[in-house]
Amino acid sequence: MSLKKLDEKKYSIPTRLIYGKSLAQEWDYSHHVIPPITTSSTFRLDSTQRGAQGFGEIGQYSDLASPPIYVYDRMGEPTVDMLQHALATAEEKEVAVAFATGMAAVHAGVCFALESQSEIISHDTIYGCTYSLFTNWLPKLGVKVHFCDLTKPDSFLPYVNGRTRVLYLESPVNPNLELLDTEAIVANLQPINAKRQKDKRILTVFDNTFATPYCQRPGKQGIDVIIHSLTKGLNGFGTDMGGAVITQREYFQQLVHFRKDFGGILAPTTAWHILVYGVSTLPLRIPRQQSSAMKIAEFLESHPLVEKVRYPGLPSFPQFEVAQRLLRDYDGNFAPGIIIYFTLKGDKPEHSKKRGEAMMNYVAQNSYSITLAVSLGQLRTLIEHPGSMTHASYAAADQIALGIDPGGIRLAVGIENANDIIADLKTALDVIS
Ligand SMILES: *Cc1c(COP(=O)(O)O)cnc(C)c1O
Repeated sequence: MSLKKLDEKKYSIPTRLIYGKSLAQEWDYSHHVIPPITTSSTFRLDSTQRGAQGFGEIGQYSDLASPPIYVYDRMGEPTVDMLQHALATAEEKEVAVAFATGMAAVHAGVCFALESQSEIISHDTIYGCTYSLFTNWLPKLGVKVHFCDLTKPDSFLPYVNGRTRVLYLESPVNPNLELLDTEAIVANLQPINAKRQKDKRILTVFDNTFATPYCQRPGKQGIDVIIHSLTKGLNGFGTDMGGAVITQREYFQQLVHFRKDFGGILAPTTAWHILVYGVSTLPLRIPRQQSSAMKIAEFLESHPLVEKVRYPGLPSFPQFEVAQRLLRDYDGNFAPGIIIYFTLKGDKPEHSKKRGEAMMNYVAQNSYSITLAVSLGQLRTLIEHPGSMTHASYAAADQIALGIDPGGIRLAVGIENANDIIADLKTALDVIS
């Protein structure tokens, strides 16, 4: 191959998210401007020796001095590998391993480090299906999960014991946008890990789906394992599902073996969509969505029917200091994200909830620029009701205790003109008031 190996690290991350590695040993695509999609589930082997070597090297991290030996899609293939490089670049971490969905990535990112009787300590408000994994499935395998309020950065300390293996964080929290002070939490954990043998260390696992790596890179604060649902902001178009575990090189092989044996691989065509359309346009989409989110949050805050608005960009945000410290884009600018959470006024929570439902039903039927649907981080603005939809796996009383308002509304801002979204929201609020 005649391609010169360029020093890509001297370029900014948004540029590297378009070009990837200057030289990709996974595939000689030096004459393709856009990387190709692999279309073969199995790979021709020149000899049984090459087959044996390929099996022996599964998940071995190569520094790409020589191309990996591909054997079978589930064990690794070039298109997914190229996406993995891009995702590691986006998070400023060493390696990424892609999975079929965000939940397959949560499962792998948490479970690769566990054995029976291991214990997890988790923030108490997390994505609904992660909560269901932690309360319905892992306990059946003998894994205990303790929940605590990690907005207090030392609240996990009383639960730590010799069996603790994972400290699980999600921030901003889905749906209410609470923030966890990652720096303070990691600082509290460090002295505990310093006294432990390497295989007994407590891994920090962090779901960064809400912020996307554009707005926050928790690895910079010392987080070990970062999870993404690629279905959301990293795909960005609402066309595909995927997930990723992004971490340091020492865990790469274990994660690739985990994926091989549990089988939750990402399909190459899906990986290609996320690589070519999604990741490369992240630095284009998020700033646009974010500036609209700010305008929409300000509009909602000024509306007489709105009780409270949570958006990390508003000075009224309860953890504004934490937001300004942790939510930063690649150039160091404040990056409060694209999600807004708000509630409507009512004499009682029940009344506020009824109003919220009326508003969302009006939007569902009449708003051109807002769609009632779960998910987030795509081109279209989506509205949803966490209490009855994404977070229904929490009992109603638990929702209130955890700060998920019965009438809470989650708005994930798209790339439409902000004035159109505001006009649609205003009409809906006027009609129901
Ligand atoms: C959507 C989501 C997930 C799950 O991702 P899927 O791709 O739907 O499996 C996990 N965590 C968060 C915060 C999410 O928003």
